[in-house]
Amino acid sequence: MKIVLGSSNPHKVKEINEIIKSTSLLKKEGRGEGFNIEFILPTKGFDPDESGKSFAENALIKAQEAWKLSHDWALADDSGLCIDALDGKPGIFSARYAETAQKRIERVLRELEGIENRKAHFICHMTLINPKGEVALSCEGICEGKIISEAKGINGFGYDPIFMPDGYDKTIAELPEDEKNRISHRSKALIQVINFLKTSH
Ligand code: IMP
Repeated sequence: MKIVLGSSNPHKVKEINEIIKSTSLLKKEGRGEGFNIEFILPTKGFDPDESGKSFAENALIKAQEAWKLSHDWALADDSGLCIDALDGKPGIFSARYAETAQKRIERVLRELEGIENRKAHFICHMTLINPKGEVALSCEGICEGKIISEAKGINGFGYDPIFMPDGYDKTIAELPEDEKNRISHRSKALIQVINFLKTSH
């Protein structure tokens, strides 16, 4: 089946397709054939107004926009970094916390200077819309960890160089892609989407 992905972030689209490729969930137990999902980008004019007040509201806005362009299955995510000592910031403003990825990292490190509590988590909210335009599933994946004091590593994107997941002594940007895709907030949300589609198809 084809699902239109409501995103214009090439890193996310790549990660989602990599997660899909690597997951064994797509093998349908008890039947000979596998369960095939292909994500495609909206063909034209995907420009949602991300004015929601929560990850869930923004994911819904993006999924509805993708559905309007396709009238087919549509999936969108809204994700971000929430830092305990900053009352959950940058949160839904993660992509807009400063002008560039480098400046966003510098802002977070500056705001955490001298603060001992470095606990943080990534959230990914996913909303799936069916061909009739109804919300079929709304779910969330979380990756817990902490913010370290300087950027390390070159893989991934966004805040990956300063985020060390629980149980690791490396940042996500120092982990191989497939390792990130095993533990990330995005893969945890996507697994719920795949499980839903497998059981409802
Ligand atoms: P969105 O595109 O509106 O969902 O914004 C997501 C923003 O959150 C990105 O631009 C990143 O700054 C941050 N973010 C989300 N997921 C990740 C991740 O896996 N690694 C690093 N940063 C992320």
